[in-house]
Amino acid sequence: MSLTIFQFFHWYYPKEKKLWNEVVKQAEHLQFIGISHVWLPPAYKSSAGENGVGYDVYDLFDLGEFNQKGSTVTRYGSKREYIKAIKTLHEHKMNVMADIVLNHKNGADESEKVHVIQVDANNRNEVVSEPMEKEIATKYYFPGRNKKYSEFVWDWKTFTGIDDCSDTNEKCIYKIINGYGDLWDDVVGDEFGNFDYLLGADIEFRNPAVTAELKYWGKWYVKTTGIDSFRLDAVKHISANFYKEWLDYLNQTFKKQFFTVAEYWSSDLKYLHEYLDVMENRVQLFDVPLHHNFFDASKKGKDFSLANIFNGTLVQTRPQSAVTFVDNHDTQPTQSLESFVEFWFKPHANAIILLRQQGIPCVFYPSYYGASYTVGDNTIELAPVPHLYKMLKIRQQFLEGEQNDYFDHPNVVAWCNKGTEENQDSGFAVVLSNNEDGFKEMNLGQHNGNKKFVDITESFNDAVVTNEEGTAFFPVKSRSISIWIKDIALDKIK
Ligand code: CA
Repeated sequence: MSLTIFQFFHWYYPKEKKLWNEVVKQAEHLQFIGISHVWLPPAYKSSAGENGVGYDVYDLFDLGEFNQKGSTVTRYGSKREYIKAIKTLHEHKMNVMADIVLNHKNGADESEKVHVIQVDANNRNEVVSEPMEKEIATKYYFPGRNKKYSEFVWDWKTFTGIDDCSDTNEKCIYKIINGYGDLWDDVVGDEFGNFDYLLGADIEFRNPAVTAELKYWGKWYVKTTGIDSFRLDAVKHISANFYKEWLDYLNQTFKKQFFTVAEYWSSDLKYLHEYLDVMENRVQLFDVPLHHNFFDASKKGKDFSLANIFNGTLVQTRPQSAVTFVDNHDTQPTQSLESFVEFWFKPHANAIILLRQQGIPCVFYPSYYGASYTVGDNTIELAPVPHLYKMLKIRQQFLEGEQNDYFDHPNVVAWCNKGTEENQDSGFAVVLSNNEDGFKEMNLGQHNGNKKFVDITESFNDAVVTNEEGTAFFPVKSRSISIWIKDIALDKIK
């Protein structure tokens, strides 16, 4: 079976709707549509308590169990509900992908007097002040948890740096003089000179006490919850050596290979390849360049050549390592990395990730279920992507046999999956247009000769019948997609 990831949340998922309980309700359906991995949001206590989405981690050991930051539960529910959600997904034969956020912490319990130097925010390798003493928020001892599970206290020795804009309106980044390294940790890439520092109190992985604690935490987390795959947040800002060590430790401890997808947010293929090389294939990477191609294609319409849709992408250059996606919680409207693929192009983009053999697709919650939310004066309505259910059912049942590509025209491209003789229902053809009506002549192999194909998008009422060799002209309507499957297979995607 082909792997298919489902990102079961978005940035504005309402806390009143208790996500963990919703997972339990949807588990059976997710299994039915062929989902193999369900990506759940960060499960630990945020510095914003039950209002935090989870990427501003306060306490890794508080999965909605302790009264900290104004509530016992997290935005998504209690620890008990979280574990029940995971168990239910396992009962339905799916893997659970936990969101691992280890770059930084937020919401310190106390501040400390610490020696720091200020660096240039645009070139973090450039020191712009003399060493000075400064009071900064770097002490975490979690009084609400009272040392249960771990007695570790985070302090200035466990962090590389912090930003503090209280004296000025500019972004001020301070490197803590903590005894580990001259300046920042080594990370892949060189934005801002060195992009180790992202936000909050940045964790110091060169401190062996920190790595030991995070290994201990990883083991505790897996044992406590039963999670069985990882999504690594913000790896652009974390030493690759740390994650190699951390993953090896957990793989050895649990005698298995945790399926792991890392988020290296860059459209520069060079850095993605470099990261994969350093990690020696321990991880998959999200195909950020492909997402940006989708975004550009949706903005430029007919002026974007669909023949180039895979240019500069991971799925083209390292298909085994690519996790393909259309949108996520960072790119959705009003978010910081907003680059939301326009609605008319979403069927095109979802067909490209779901109905081809290269890459592991990740489906975004609002694409399937829709979403509506208000941010400031903006009310956002996200409608479900048309035909997504049928695409998932086709992927689940018919994605086999040889794939033939016809990316030979700027405005009409196509591919077909020939299927196999054993699976009579298999064999399908996909045609995409970003301009006028069009068609593509395709061959699906002799075993598909004299077969009737119908368009599941219902743009066309008439069937297409292949000739003896299995060849036919498959049409598509303007700025649309058509997916042609055998008429005898229609019942299978109901
Ligand atoms: Ca960092």
